[in-house]
Amino acid sequence: MTDLGELVVAWLNGDITQTPGHLGPPDPETIPLIGALTLANRAGFLTDCSQQAGEHEEGYLWEAWVTGFASDATLERLRSMATRAGLGFGACRRRQHCDHKQQGWSHCPWRECVGFWSHRCPAVWSELVGAWYVGIHDPEPGRNDRLWLMLERFAAETERR
Ligand SMILES: [Zn+2]
Repeated sequence: MTDLGELVVAWLNGDITQTPGHLGPPDPETIPLIGALTLANRAGFLTDCSQQAGEHEEGYLWEAWVTGFASDATLERLRSMATRAGLGFGACRRRQHCDHKQQGWSHCPWRECVGFWSHRCPAVWSELVGAWYVGIHDPEPGRNDRLWLMLERFAAETERR
């Protein structure tokens, strides 16, 4: 997981030009998140997707969210910090499930996400199959000052351990 986190960091920062899934560099909307995502990946939260909050030109607001893979120990720390920050939190692994609806998932993402990345890169299967798939989101549409700060605090706390 540590090595995979470093590969995500290399992709975020342009040292690798594409991942087996994204097939390109980070989207422009990801650029402001690179600092927080780099810290999170180095601290054990292997992120695979994220979305900053924003506003559609028709005035529709959407939420900030991030998803990724975590070990048991990382899961508990992320859950605790997300809950304290007032963020929505969900995690699934094999037959253990969170409340999918509360997390905004229409169905369980675990099998699909482990399958997607393992299909693209079979070498990651043995790591991902034992990991939790975690989703954290800000329930307040349009707000970008909570989730990313929480990830930075998570990383700083990891460094102090
Ligand atoms: Zn589930």
